[in-house]
Amino acid sequence: MTRPPILKAKASILFPMPLPEPFDYTVPDGMELRVGDHVRAPIGPRVARGVVWALSGDDGSRNLKAVDSVYDAPPLSPAMIEFVDWSARYLVQLPGIMLRNVLRSEDSLLPSPREVLFAPTGEEPARLTEARQKVMDVIAENGPDSATKIARLAGVTPGVVTGLVKAGGLRRIERPADPPFDPPDPDRPGVDLVPQQQEAAGQLTRMLDAGGFQAALLDGVTGSGKTEVYFEAIAHALREDPEAQILVLLPEIALTQAVTARFIQRFGAEPAVWHSDQGHKERRRIWREVNHNRARIVIGARSALFLPFQKLRLIVVDEEHDATYKQGDGLHYQARDLAVVRARASKAAIVLASATPSIETLANARAGRYAYIRLPDRIGKAVLPEVTTIDLRDHRPERGLWLSDPLVSAMADTLQRREQVLLYLNRRGYAPLVLCRDCGHRMKSPDVDAYLTEHRYTGRLICHLTGFSMPRPEKCPECGAIDSLISVGPGVERVAEEAKARFPDANVEILSSDTAHSAEKLLALIDRMERGEIDILVGTQIAAKGHNFPNLTLIGVVDADLGLAGGDPRAGERTYQTLVQVAGRAGRAERPGRALLQTHDPDHEAIAALVAGDRDRFMEAETMAREVLGLPPFGRLAAIIISSKDAHQVDGVAADWAKRAPDADGVTIWGPAEPRYGMVRGWHRRRLLVRADRDVDVSAYVAAWKRRMKPVSSVRVTVDIEPYSFV
Ligand code: ADP
Repeated sequence: MTRPPILKAKASILFPMPLPEPFDYTVPDGMELRVGDHVRAPIGPRVARGVVWALSGDDGSRNLKAVDSVYDAPPLSPAMIEFVDWSARYLVQLPGIMLRNVLRSEDSLLPSPREVLFAPTGEEPARLTEARQKVMDVIAENGPDSATKIARLAGVTPGVVTGLVKAGGLRRIERPADPPFDPPDPDRPGVDLVPQQQEAAGQLTRMLDAGGFQAALLDGVTGSGKTEVYFEAIAHALREDPEAQILVLLPEIALTQAVTARFIQRFGAEPAVWHSDQGHKERRRIWREVNHNRARIVIGARSALFLPFQKLRLIVVDEEHDATYKQGDGLHYQARDLAVVRARASKAAIVLASATPSIETLANARAGRYAYIRLPDRIGKAVLPEVTTIDLRDHRPERGLWLSDPLVSAMADTLQRREQVLLYLNRRGYAPLVLCRDCGHRMKSPDVDAYLTEHRYTGRLICHLTGFSMPRPEKCPECGAIDSLISVGPGVERVAEEAKARFPDANVEILSSDTAHSAEKLLALIDRMERGEIDILVGTQIAAKGHNFPNLTLIGVVDADLGLAGGDPRAGERTYQTLVQVAGRAGRAERPGRALLQTHDPDHEAIAALVAGDRDRFMEAETMAREVLGLPPFGRLAAIIISSKDAHQVDGVAADWAKRAPDADGVTIWGPAEPRYGMVRGWHRRRLLVRADRDVDVSAYVAAWKRRMKPVSSVRVTVDIEPYSFV
C-alpha cells in the first residue's frame, strides 16, 4: 500500500502583471494564508507583490517555490476576486491587468506613517526672541503643523520650533499621517421629502431590506430631488448595518467641494473622495481605510470601482448616462456596467440615477431587470425651462459671427433684468481650424490626422488628441504667404469675443478645461457665477453638469447640431442628454428660465423632442432605430483596434485578422476600416467591428479569435467591448 502524499498547502498567486494566469507556490511551515491575502513571492529573478487567488493541497509532485512573506493587512474579499476574474473575462483582458487597477502602492498595505505636529500650549514661552515670535505668529495664523513647514513659513530653522517645546510655548502632537474617516451619522435630519421622493425612497429602502443583488433606475428630471432620495437609501443602509460601505460614483467633473459639502451636511462627516486629482497621500489613506472597512462612504470617479471594499452594500451611479464613465484610454471599460457587475458580486444594491438615462439602462428597466423609479416633477417652484429653436437658415449671423439676432436680443433682455446668460458650445479654444487663404493649406497635427485648434489666449495651435502645440505661425508653412492664415469656425474663446463686442459692459467669462484646468480654478469660476459676478458665461461640456446657478435664466446653445453628425450610434442620444443638462441649468430657483437652440435642422428628432419636452418620444425613436440595426442594447459590439508604426504592416495584419475571424451564428464582422483618426502619435490604426446578437457571448468570441492570431511584436491589438467612441 502506498502512503498518501503529505498534503501541504499550495497557493495560487496572481500578480499585477500581464501574465495569463496565477502561479503556484508552496506555503512555508508556520505561514497562515487566506484567499485574498497580499503576499510577496519570487517570480523570475525577483520577489514581487501579488494576491493569493486560491488555496489547495500540494501533493509535492512539482518542485514549487515558496511564498516569501505575507502582509499584515486584510485580504481582498471573495467578491473582489470574483469581480476581477469576471471583468477580465468580459473585457478580454488578462486578470493580472485587472488586478493592476486594484492594487495601489505598497504603503497602503502598511500602517499609516506617523507625523508630529507642533501646537501652542497657550503659555507664554520663556525668552521670546524675534525668531520664536515669528514661529508663534505662523502657528497662530495657519494652525498646528510640522516643524519643517512652520520653519519654512517663518523663515527660521526647524530648531527654533523644537526649541519652543522646551521653552514651554509649544507642545508636540503625534498622530497618524493618514487620519481615519469619521463615521457618518445616518440619523441627522435630512430635508423633509415631498411625497414623490418619499415614495421613491421607500422603494429603495425596501430593495435594501430584501437583500442580495438588486438594481434600480432612479429616473427624475434635473432638480427633482434625486440626490436627497439616494441619501435616504444611504442612511438606511448605514442604519441597518453600521459596517456597511457605500460607493457613490460621479462623473469626474462633478466631484467638487459642492458635492462633498452636501454629504457633510447630510451625514455630518467627510466622505472619502477618490479622483484623478487626489495626491498620493490621500489615495494611500483612502485605499487603506476602505480595505480595513473603516471608510463608510466613498464618493469617486470611475476608478473608485476598483477600491478594495470589504462590505459593500450599496452603489449609486449618479448621472449614469454620462459618457465619461466610459474609459477610452488604456483599459477600455464602462464604469456603469462594471458597477453593476461589482454590485452583483458583492450581493449589493445598485441605484442608477439620471435625468436622461441611457438607452441601455432604460431597456433594462423596461424589461423588469431593474426596478424603475420615476420622479417626474421638480421640487418647489422651479420649472423646466421653455425650449425653443432658432432656425439658422432664417437667422443667419453675419460672416465670422455666431450669435443670431433672436439670441442676441434675448441676451439683451436678460442682461437688462440683471439676470445671467450661459452660452454653450462644446468646442474649446478660438477656432477649430486654421487655413491659408492663399493656398488652402490646413494646419494639421504632425503625427495624427487631425486639425490644430487655435487658442487665442495662449497664441498657440493645439492638437486636442495628442497635446502637440506650436505658436501660431506668421507665414503659411506651405506657400510662405504672410498674414494669410485665417481662423475657421467658432470655439468658446471666439464666441466670448463676440459676446464681449456686443455687450461691452457685461462681464464675460469662459468655462472650459483650459480656463478651469484645476479643481481650484473651476471652483472659483463656479463661485463667481453663483454669486452673480459673471453676466455671460461661455462654456463647454463642463458647464453643462450639475451646477446650480440661481440667477441664470437664459441658455443659448450656439450649435445644437454639433454631435449629431458622425458615425457613433449614440450620437443622437448623447446630444439629447447634453441639451437637457444644459437646458436644466436655467431657472433652477424662483425665476423661470428658457433655452434657445441655434440649429440648421430644427426637425431633427433630438431637437424636436427637446422642444416638445418629450423625452420618452425621443428615446423610443432612438431605441427603435437601434433595435432595427441590432445595436446595443439589442445586440453587442466589440471593437478590435490594430495599430502599428508601419502603414503597410497594419493593413496586412488587419486583413489577416479579418480572414481568420471564427465563423459563428449571429456574428457579423465589419472592416477592417480606417477610424476617423487613422494615425495617432505615429501609430497607424485599423478597426474591426464585431456585431453580435444579444445572446452571443461576444467576449468569448473575441477571446477565441485572439487565440487564433499569432502576436506580432511591433503590432498592438486593443479590444474594446461595447465601444463608445469611433475615433
Ligand atoms: P437632483 O439630484 O434631482 O438634481 P437634488 O436632490 O439636487 O435634485 O435637489 C435639487 C434641489 O432641491 C437641491 O438644492 C435640494 O437641496 C433641494 N431639495 C431636494 N429635495 C427637497 C425637499 N424635499 N425639500 C426642500 N428642498 C429639497
